[in-house]
Amino acid sequence: MPKKAIILDLDNTIYPVASIGNELFHPLFKMIEQSGEYTGDIEEIKKAIMRTPFQKVASAHNFSDTLTEQGIELLTGLTCTMEMAPFEDYDEVRAIPCKKFLVTTGFTRMQQSKVEQLNIARDFEEVHIVDPRLSNQTKKSVFKDIIDRHNLEPTDVLVVGDDPHSEIKAALELGIEAVLYDKLNFNPATTTLSRITDFKQLHDFI
Ligand SMILES: [Mg+2]
Repeated sequence: MPKKAIILDLDNTIYPVASIGNELFHPLFKMIEQSGEYTGDIEEIKKAIMRTPFQKVASAHNFSDTLTEQGIELLTGLTCTMEMAPFEDYDEVRAIPCKKFLVTTGFTRMQQSKVEQLNIARDFEEVHIVDPRLSNQTKKSVFKDIIDRHNLEPTDVLVVGDDPHSEIKAALELGIEAVLYDKLNFNPATTTLSRITDFKQLHDFI
C-alpha cells in the first residue's frame, strides 16, 4: 500500500554525527577525560556518545553522578554553530512526494541548532524534539500522536532511522513499517530488519 507519510530520525539518518562530533563534543570529552570518573575505554566512550543518548552512555560506563550531572548541564547549553550538510543522498528523500515528519531525541537547543544548520525545517510538516529531561514523551508516543492527529493508519506510515533500539523498535511496536537506514554500516548483519544503505532504495518501501 502506498505510504502517505514518512517519519525520519535526525542523527546519523539525515547527516553523520561524526562530521561534527569531535568539534561539538570537545568540551564534553575533555570533561570526561579529566574527571577519570568512568569505566571502559575513552575512545569507545567517544564513539558511543556519537551514536547513543548521553544518559545511556553515562550509565553503561559507570559515570559518577557528578560527572553525569555536569555532562548533562554542559550538553543542555551546547549548540551547533559549525557548517553542517545532509548525507549526499538526502535529496532522494526531499523528492518523495509525501508528508514528512522529523522526530529526534536529544537536548532541545542542540537538536534545534542542527535543524537550523542543516536547513531542513522546510522539508517537514512537523519537527519534534523528544527531550527526556523536559517531558515523558518518547518517540513511540510522538509517532502515535502524529498518526492520530493526521488521521493516518499505521500502515500509511514508514519510519526511517539508523537505530534498531530506538525509532525502529518504536515503529514496529505500533505496527508501523520501519526501514533501517544504515549508511554508516553500524548493523551490517541484521537479518530481521529491512535495511538500506542509500535513500534511493527507499522507493521500494513507499
Ligand atoms: Mg539516529
